[in-house]
Amino acid sequence: MRKFKLGKRAAALALATAMFCGSFFSAGCGDKDEIDYSKVNLIDDNYRTYYEIFVYSFCDSDGDGIGDLKGVTSKLDYIADLGFTGIWFMPLMQSTTYHKYDTVDYYSIDEEYGTLDDFKELLEECDKRGIKVIIDLAINHTSSKHKWFQEMYDYVSGLAAGEEPDASVCKYIDYYNIERGKYGTSSWHRIGSSEYGYEGGFWSEMPDMNLANEDLRGELEDVMKYWLDLGVDGFRLDAAKEFFSGSKSKNVEVLKWLTDYCKSVKEDAYLVAEVWEGFSSYTQYYESGIDSIFGFALADSSGKIAKTINAPAGSGAGRSLADAMVQVQDTIYKYNLNAIDAPFLNNHDIARSTGYFSGNEAKIKMASAVNLMFSGNAFVYYGEEIGMSGSGKDENKRLPMYWSATDGTGITDGPVDADRIESKFAPVDEQMGDKTSLYSCMKRAIWLRNANPELIRGKVSVMEAIEDGDICAVSKTWEDSTIYVLMNLNETEERIISVSKDIYNYKELCGYYSVDGSKVKLAKDGTLTLPPYSIAVLK
Ligand code: CA
Repeated sequence: MRKFKLGKRAAALALATAMFCGSFFSAGCGDKDEIDYSKVNLIDDNYRTYYEIFVYSFCDSDGDGIGDLKGVTSKLDYIADLGFTGIWFMPLMQSTTYHKYDTVDYYSIDEEYGTLDDFKELLEECDKRGIKVIIDLAINHTSSKHKWFQEMYDYVSGLAAGEEPDASVCKYIDYYNIERGKYGTSSWHRIGSSEYGYEGGFWSEMPDMNLANEDLRGELEDVMKYWLDLGVDGFRLDAAKEFFSGSKSKNVEVLKWLTDYCKSVKEDAYLVAEVWEGFSSYTQYYESGIDSIFGFALADSSGKIAKTINAPAGSGAGRSLADAMVQVQDTIYKYNLNAIDAPFLNNHDIARSTGYFSGNEAKIKMASAVNLMFSGNAFVYYGEEIGMSGSGKDENKRLPMYWSATDGTGITDGPVDADRIESKFAPVDEQMGDKTSLYSCMKRAIWLRNANPELIRGKVSVMEAIEDGDICAVSKTWEDSTIYVLMNLNETEERIISVSKDIYNYKELCGYYSVDGSKVKLAKDGTLTLPPYSIAVLK
């Protein structure tokens, strides 16, 4: 049934997973309780499961308390073992802030994180493990310390009263948005004591760029080419809805330019944009032809996933989730048939799920699993695999990765302004040895994705014959193969349902997931027993 085109990279990954993975949980066909990782054939395409890393807080290799690239490299086996096939790095380039979303130099690695050689080594090590790397590209704005801005600022500051700025003298005046007499608001800031102001919508130290300017576009193309040539696989585009605040059509045009350019340099480059808006709005950005737009409708305490998890039993939340999966697919395909959905539950701007599920371990686990059952490229924020805590101010959402309570190796100090927040759950080293920990459950869910290529690439349909509203039941068809994914969203009750072989064409239970480790069972007559908060994959 499987028609895998196994690239060198995928073969390497299969080997790597065989080496690094334990055997205490299952995914894939054959023996459903145990898996032979060497037989999981990962496909080398742009369908991935991404791990979002904030390097500053992740792992410190040299003891200065700040996470760095060598620290990340030392944890790549950990990341590959969890099953991730992609990494999104929050900004790595030289910056003035701890979060580094204000770029000072687009051609450098911030010295807090290490050197360019460290990054090259990291890319090589990712490649060995079949992990794609995308990096954050913040081009809505630069840092106010960027040389383009500083030259513009010095030039405009030196203008005589009434003198017009002249782009033939200083081209950088057109790289930013400046206007006579417009300053003194939260978004517009005065240039020295001149008559001019510049736009800085997020912060005065993050001046907005004018992405319509052709010279600037040329510079940014050079930047993208530089990183693509170095070996990165694509970019995460920050703040895309603010490129031209209030103008969707202009923003879409910018995304189209960025997408077309990157794919002209590297055919299989992958781009995902942050458009922090509602579903009907952000999906329209797929018109640009970009691969992915983050699925904000699923995320956060008010998103579809949390709503599903928090819905009372018997309220039809399962059926509603299945309908949502189809709706997401149909909506994005309406704009772009090659679109890859980018579901996620949390990121560096959003409170961690442990908080909004009030520490309910089963809910946290199942929410993560639901995210991972969506087609497309699911993104997982570092630390979610162990249920780290963190909400309120941004620094608290970016706390030090909790590797161990007893071994300080690699543990960072985290952002200076972060509060001391005790983790509700055990650190990585303790959870790794526990078969039913948050960590082990997430790993199992990710490997269900890895073992079943239909799960993330397949076209989704609702299994209409499954009438239990607590069950989310969908089929996923990719190439000539169909799998059936059934999730019991009831937190406390087992569900026994009939999955008719007259209606649905499957042979066996191919893999399963449950939050407490109990088994999913399939009888020969198609009777499926789903424990509370569990998932079955039939094929
Ligand atoms: Ca360090």
